Amino acid sequence: MVSPAAELVEVADGVYARLHEGLTNAGIIVGDEGVMIIDSLRVPSFARELIEDVRKITPKPIKYVIDTHSHWDHSWGNEEFPEATIVGHQNCRSEMLDVDAQKLWMNKIIASNESWSEEAKTVIITPPTMTFDSKLSMYFGARLIELRYFGRAHTSGDIFIFLPQDKLVFTGDVAQDSGVPFMMDGYMEDWVETSRLLSELPADRFVSGHGPVGEHEALVEAKDFITDLVIGIKECISNGQSEQESVELVLKKLNDRFGHWRGFDRVEDSIGFAFRQIMQNG
Ligand SMILES: [Zn+2]
Repeated sequence: MVSPAAELVEVADGVYARLHEGLTNAGIIVGDEGVMIIDSLRVPSFARELIEDVRKITPKPIKYVIDTHSHWDHSWGNEEFPEATIVGHQNCRSEMLDVDAQKLWMNKIIASNESWSEEAKTVIITPPTMTFDSKLSMYFGARLIELRYFGRAHTSGDIFIFLPQDKLVFTGDVAQDSGVPFMMDGYMEDWVETSRLLSELPADRFVSGHGPVGEHEALVEAKDFITDLVIGIKECISNGQSEQESVELVLKKLNDRFGHWRGFDRVEDSIGFAFRQIMQNG
């Protein structure tokens, strides 16, 4: 299948954000001898379109594919890169090897009846073969690329691709510019601390898995959103409020500052999910 055209934005010298509105973004970093891809996208045909876009920039071989996390729309194109080393967090690999969890996603995607649903059935889930725990430094020509892990957040294995010389970071789905992240696989209380550490990286701009390129201030807002949500729920719990009361109160509170965000109309279910998780954790 052919998806709507993606937009290539050069965010630093030889570093591109491949923005795909309403879908999933990717990153392309061109080094002296090869190329690094950040996220391989949802199905092989999407990955092949990404490769076509790389070819518009450079003929150099794609040497690395970095998975920001295990989610299907970021990593199910991995099989299209047999010559590359797939890199991700250890927990990202574990999640991709979790047959039950992947089957749940597969069923959801097939049921969604989207234009990629049929193709999704044929995906060969290909987990990272190079993993790390907290930090991996890669030297790509003159450019230092730091892969950082700050703890669980949107999944158990979210990593950030930080380019200190360029003051730029790829955030996966932990933070978006003015967009509500998907939370149902999240670790809500850990997410607060992870997004705090992310917001403290000396980065002026960030490329998210979804939505536009953001400025540092938007990273701080993304951290505030998760923090306000979790603190709001905890206050409700300590006041003895029910799930429904809590959802209403937290929704009202978040609406003042974040009501205009993409996906805010769907945040209610996520607040309920967060409430049940925080209750369960005691
Ligand atoms: Zn995700």
